[in-house]
Amino acid sequence: PHKRDEIAAMLDDRFTIRTLSEAGINEDIVEDAQTLEGNARLKAKYVYDRLQCNVFADDTGLEVTSLNGAPGVHSARYAGEERSSEANIAKLLTALHGQENRSARFRTSICLIYQGQVHFFEGIAEGVITTSRRGSGGFGYDSIFEPILEPSVRERYGHQHPTFAELSASDKNRTSHRGKAVNALISFLSSLNAE
Ligand code: IMP
Repeated sequence: PHKRDEIAAMLDDRFTIRTLSEAGINEDIVEDAQTLEGNARLKAKYVYDRLQCNVFADDTGLEVTSLNGAPGVHSARYAGEERSSEANIAKLLTALHGQENRSARFRTSICLIYQGQVHFFEGIAEGVITTSRRGSGGFGYDSIFEPILEPSVRERYGHQHPTFAELSASDKNRTSHRGKAVNALISFLSSLNAE
């Protein structure tokens, strides 16, 4: 639901989003591909095969440099099948204990199936992992990820280094991996409309 709200806030009234449950799909789609692109495609294809409608799906991973890109495609289940953000954060902070290189990036892959054709869009947010949690907004790993911000955005936060969980929803959308990937998706859809 949080992701739906983030994306809906970026779309104007030319677009209507139906979530999976609104489209009548209530089962969990198994995400067992080894890449973000593979999982995004698998989810979009599942819905397309069921409903034959235009559909997009996203998959996101947090790629930590000193962990060779982990947790990556396994970000949701990093600390176990229960997909607990609290446990995932605790595990990551422990894995990085004493580590100087704390650089990381969020990467989102969106797969769009539009009129039966498959398209991919990507968005990346570079940043660092903090040593402790800060902020109460957002979800997932937001409270331990400090994105590299444009100077104009940093200015609004007193030139500090806020985590994603300390940004307003609109500033997070502007700088986030998913925000960038969704913008690429919107540009593509707008270019189709213009034709
Ligand atoms: P998903 O593919 O979008 O479900 O993302 C996989 C996992 O990455 C989620 O379970 C979250 O833990 C994490 N994640 C995805 N997007 C974000 C974000 O914007 N902020 C923080 N964590 C995120």
